[in-house]
Amino acid sequence: MQITRSSTDTAKGPADWFTGEVYIDAVAVPQAPARVQANLVHFTPGARTAWHTHPLGQTIYVTEGIGLCQRRGGSIELIRPGDRVFFEPGEEHWHGATANRLMVHLALNEVDDEHAAAHWGEHVSDDEYAAAPSPRS
Ligand code: MN
Repeated sequence: MQITRSSTDTAKGPADWFTGEVYIDAVAVPQAPARVQANLVHFTPGARTAWHTHPLGQTIYVTEGIGLCQRRGGSIELIRPGDRVFFEPGEEHWHGATANRLMVHLALNEVDDEHAAAHWGEHVSDDEYAAAPSPRS
C-alpha cells in the first residue's frame, strides 16, 4: 500500500498539447505491471486539447461544467456532468471546455513501456472550435 497525500502540485497543461489554460492533477500514477493512469483535468472556458490519439484508447468522465468533444470526421458533441466518452485506440479526437463554461473531466488511460498515453497533433484551430454547438440551444 502506498498513500500519496495531497502533495503533488497541479501541473499546467503544456502549450504544445493544449490551447488555453488547462490544469492537471495526477490521480493515479501506475507502477508496472499496473498501467492505469488517471488525471483530473480542469479546462477553463475556451480551453481544449490539440488533436491527438491514444494507443490504448481513453475514457473521460465529466464531473463539472459543460464540455465538447469531437472525433475526426464527426460533429462536435456537447458533454455534461455524468457523461462518459470512450475514444477508441488510434481514434483522432479532441476534448475541452465550451467557450463560456469551464469543464472538468477525469481522464483514464493505460500506459506501459510500449504505449504512451497519447500522441499529439496540431492544435484545434479557432475556426474548427467555432463550429461547436451552443450549450444554450
Ligand atoms: Mn483524449
